Amino acid sequence: MSTPDSPSPLSTDDIAAITGNLDEVADRARAAAESSGRSGDDVRVLLATKTQPAEKIRVALEHGFTLIGENKVQEITGKAEALADLNPETHLIGPLQKNKVNHTLRHAQCIQSVDNLPLAEKINNRLDVLDETIDFFIQVNTSREDSKFGIAPEDAEELITATRELGRMRLRGLMTIGLPGSTPEEIRPSYSDLRELSERLRDSGAMPAEAAELSMGMSGDFELAISEGATMVRVGSSIFGAREYS
Ligand SMILES: *Cc1c(COP(=O)(O)O)cnc(C)c1O
Repeated sequence: MSTPDSPSPLSTDDIAAITGNLDEVADRARAAAESSGRSGDDVRVLLATKTQPAEKIRVALEHGFTLIGENKVQEITGKAEALADLNPETHLIGPLQKNKVNHTLRHAQCIQSVDNLPLAEKINNRLDVLDETIDFFIQVNTSREDSKFGIAPEDAEELITATRELGRMRLRGLMTIGLPGSTPEEIRPSYSDLRELSERLRDSGAMPAEAAELSMGMSGDFELAISEGATMVRVGSSIFGAREYS
């Protein structure tokens, strides 16, 4: 494992590929924001770093990116020490089981995958013990498919209302994964539905006005997501290359 003092095992070509991809994704995200009448600064790129070694993530953080997202608590824990000197803002973007809450709170600054009240209550109770706070997103299943993750859009209001009682958790907005592996025409409704839900819940006062973030869009469709209002896109393979699962 690389430490701040040891040389990176990545080749200069590997490093140049990552930084070139980072610049390209940042340029495309900015252009997409501007062509939908927003400022490039209104959209943040979160690096989806699952399965990627800390050395590669380090390249991106040293290149000026600050926001990373992991899917598994074990991966957050495993890489946190190696990246601690770069102080990334770390989000959990994958499903969270109640028995992993304590580990998550040790290293994550935001949980994007809150989709049920018992989980939110467990997080809040633990934060009470720690005397800390955390940011979170409500994950909504806008794919119109049977998916295990994310609350159904019609149930989001009730969950959001209930989480407003949890004093140690600050809602930043809504997150969705959308419909996987499909054409832009098929995937757009997943993103427009999330934007419309967010607008409706903020207009009615069910959701705090400041919880305006929309985390949506991945390598294959982040420009589409930005055109539908994404404030945060989660990009992995376009930056780091294809993932290798062992
Ligand atoms: C892996 C992942 C991404 C990024 O996917 P890419 O297609 O590699 O950009 C975004 N969001 C979540 C929740 C993921 O698991």
